[in-house]
Amino acid sequence: MVGGGITGLTAGYRLAVDHPEIDVTVLEAADRAGGHLRTGPLDDPVLDGLPVDAGADAFLVRVPWARDLCEELGLGDELVSPSARRASLWLDGALWPIPSPNVLGVPLDPGAIAPGLVEPADLERLAGDGLPDLPPGAAPPLGTTGDMSVGAVVRACVGDRVFERLVDPLLGGINAGRADDLSCTVMAPQLLAAARSSDGLLAGLRRSMAAADPTAPVFNSPAAGMERLVEALASALGSRLHTGSPVTGLSRGDGTAGWTVATESDTHHADAVVLAVPAHVAATLVAPLSDAAGDLLAGWRHASVALATFVFDRADLEVPADQSGFLVGRGPDRETSPLMTACSFAGSKWAHLDHPERTVLRVSCGRIDDGRPAGLTDDDLIAALRADLATTLGVEAPPTTVRLGRFPDSLVQFPVGHVDRISELDGLLADATPGLLMAGTVRTGVGIPACIRSGTEAAELAVVAASI
Ligand SMILES: Cc1cc2nc3c(=O)[nH]c(=O)nc-3n(C[C@H](O)[C@H](O)[C@H](O)COP(=O)(O)OP(=O)(O)OC[C@H]3O[C@@H](n4cnc5c(N)ncnc54)[C@H](O)[C@@H]3O)c2cc1C
Repeated sequence: MVGGGITGLTAGYRLAVDHPEIDVTVLEAADRAGGHLRTGPLDDPVLDGLPVDAGADAFLVRVPWARDLCEELGLGDELVSPSARRASLWLDGALWPIPSPNVLGVPLDPGAIAPGLVEPADLERLAGDGLPDLPPGAAPPLGTTGDMSVGAVVRACVGDRVFERLVDPLLGGINAGRADDLSCTVMAPQLLAAARSSDGLLAGLRRSMAAADPTAPVFNSPAAGMERLVEALASALGSRLHTGSPVTGLSRGDGTAGWTVATESDTHHADAVVLAVPAHVAATLVAPLSDAAGDLLAGWRHASVALATFVFDRADLEVPADQSGFLVGRGPDRETSPLMTACSFAGSKWAHLDHPERTVLRVSCGRIDDGRPAGLTDDDLIAALRADLATTLGVEAPPTTVRLGRFPDSLVQFPVGHVDRISELDGLLADATPGLLMAGTVRTGVGIPACIRSGTEAAELAVVAASI
């Protein structure tokens, strides 16, 4: 395995447990495994070593892969779910409640939308079934197969304003993208399926919502933070995990079958290699073996994001206990709109982070079309985010502690047709580099469950590749 983030760790763990006869090695460049999963205490004596996530802080449980892995690793009893489930949206200089119920921002009950958030014509449309605008006798505008952008689907069914004010902030927030450019097949397959149902997007979503348990948790996390999952996988892998081992080159074995994997200090031989690294790293490693695959991977776009954790004295800042935080919509003018894209009220979201003397906020920034954070020094970025907190929450007092984490080129963008792009890549690799497999966010989503699923599938494919 090349890469010891959640994808590479899962792939390595699966091989170690399911195929103990196979020698597996996970090579991780950094001096710690986990990639975007990092947890650590904040430098605040009052918080007394309380572990707070510096990257991802939860995984979706609507799909089983992450939860099942936690159960298998014996972490089932440690899983907690958010105590606050409501959130808001910063738009037009004010916080608005995100209407509930909604599916990825598409509101299902117009009566639950705060007055003024959208126009009366939007409410009227939202009271209907969400059938796309269609002149009599015209072909279905959404077609029946193939990919479309999230924006094209949602705009056609519920209008531009609902898309721009509600869906783009929520869905684009998942990978710091623009929902107008994102593949609906990858990012929101449930929206595409409902929009193509004969009765319309809203009717289709309401039907699936009626079948779901509204009290079931949506997210889970180990109470000790997401790094607990990393620790459990690393401990199961033991000496098979090599940190501080950046892979610098791949070559086909000299005269023998298989691969030679070079790190800065070592060489490893393998029957199969799984690349569980960001696409831009994979592009560099693959290019000497296949120009076409390298070029394709080099075309994957990534957004750079940063996440700042602010701790305030609770006397200076109190946030609503029933709100998990707020998202920030794209303003009409990028230069004057807030840098922050979301603010999570950690102590309201997670009961174990609720501290009587402190308020902990996790503030995200950076989008595919907003590189301002990347261009600022750490001090200037923190100052800009503090100014955003003053604007949105009215807190002028200085924080007791700030921790800033940068994640350059971290969130892959999935353009329309991404699934075809993956098929093309797999075909190129199968022809030019048999036994070399790609896994992780590069394939089908940035969410932790998708990465775990991809790592699991890569392990199975590696077994097949190694036995050929
Ligand atoms: C700020 C932030 C918040 C997020 N929040 C959530 C969330 O709450 N829920 C959720 O589901 N998802 C969230 N995500 C997304 C999710 O965390 C990631 O998509 C996921 O962790 C990616 O895992 P990965 O193993 O595929 O990649 P990575 O975590 O990027 O791991 C790749 C690993 O490869 C290593 N590497 C790179 N080059 C080499 C090399 N040459 N040789 C060896 N190793 C190398 C890297 O050091 C890294 O450890 C978040 C992402 C970010 C950035």
